[in-house]
Amino acid sequence: MFPSSEIYGGLANSWDFGPYGTELKNNLKQNWWKNFVHNREDMIGLDAAIIMNPKVWKASGHLKEFKDPLVECKKCHKRFRSDDIGKECPECKGELTEPRPFSGLMKTFLGPAEDKTAETYLRPETAQGIFVNFKNILDTTRQKLPFGIAQIGKAFRNEITPGNFIFRTREFEQMEIEYFFNPEKNKWEEKFNQWLEDFKKWMDEIGIDSKKLFFHNIEKEELAHYSKKTIDIEFDFPFGRKELFGLAYRTDFDLKSHKINYKDPETQDEFIPHVIEPSIGVDRMMLAIVLSAYTEEKVGDETRTVMKFKNDIAPVKIAVFPLLKNKPELVKKAKEIFNSLKLHWMCKFDDNGNIGKRYRRQDEIGTPYCVTVDFETLKDNSVTARNRDTMKQERIKIDKLKEYLGERLK
Ligand code: ATP
Repeated sequence: MFPSSEIYGGLANSWDFGPYGTELKNNLKQNWWKNFVHNREDMIGLDAAIIMNPKVWKASGHLKEFKDPLVECKKCHKRFRSDDIGKECPECKGELTEPRPFSGLMKTFLGPAEDKTAETYLRPETAQGIFVNFKNILDTTRQKLPFGIAQIGKAFRNEITPGNFIFRTREFEQMEIEYFFNPEKNKWEEKFNQWLEDFKKWMDEIGIDSKKLFFHNIEKEELAHYSKKTIDIEFDFPFGRKELFGLAYRTDFDLKSHKINYKDPETQDEFIPHVIEPSIGVDRMMLAIVLSAYTEEKVGDETRTVMKFKNDIAPVKIAVFPLLKNKPELVKKAKEIFNSLKLHWMCKFDDNGNIGKRYRRQDEIGTPYCVTVDFETLKDNSVTARNRDTMKQERIKIDKLKEYLGERLK
């Protein structure tokens, strides 16, 4: 991950994802989509626009409610969210102003005239795109309750205190689900608990360290304006225990606000469905994955840094090396293997430096397997396959290599 616009001095709290970061992020999003959309019959996907009609934000309550209390230090003029700090400036101990509401909505203008009529917002959450498309989805997919709509996309918030690397930024990505059900037929507690269980299982599958996870039931007085119950799933980050993502029972608040209801195709009853919402920040989840995977191990008198990513999440699955760069027969064979494996997995070819260094480089980006072509390969068509975590090497015939890796990278 790189600071955004770095050659121009950067832009505070804006980050770009480099080649491996992009692979990791894509893997995370694809894994979530596969788990929660493709693998289920009661889920479908959506991709709504970031800029929506401002009436959406009026109806949803964001224009009125989406505000944080802002205070300013009278001495150093730094600004803070008053619910984040105590009674004095955390930087210079100066006196603070009275809190005033500060809108988290990021404003922009559509078209050439920067006046009130052109005023609009970048969405602060992907959820509203789901609610306003509820009818379109019903009309085009024949989904029956209970069912859910999933969406992955960018969201923007004019945060007062962004920071802690990619934990809190003004531009970020969300993976959200709105799961609709008939409150007369389904108990919300059951649906809520089921989603919590599904997400616990999923976090284990993507390699989140369960010892660092905490489930914080939000007190009634602290609940967001739309929620009847919320559990914040928290993670022990190096800068403290903080929200990783949220699971909320949003009742019928949103569909009601948008005046949308549902007609049961069998009974013809009309009512407003209720909603459970698991809402995840992609970037925060990525940070938790990286922190869970980071390992330092003693190997002899050296320290090895290794990212123990789950196979499905690892940016690169297999690295292919010729033992020596200046032996054309080895390079040719290694290229052949690389070209055939890359059709199935994200692979990297590396012939630079000694083999031990190349293994370490792959350990540092968490590549589960390295395949090395050496002089024996030329004699018996076998290669070594090295496992990242055990560092054990096995001799495998080239014609069995794809099957060998396939079984292990499942
Ligand atoms: P916080 O209390 O940390 O501001 P929130 O309760 O306002 O978060 P939600 O509105 O529930 O957050 O958003 C759902 C999820 O989106 C969060 O749990 C988090 O993973 C992610 N998220 C929210 N704001 C940001 C941000 N500014 N930067 C990165 N991720 C964010």
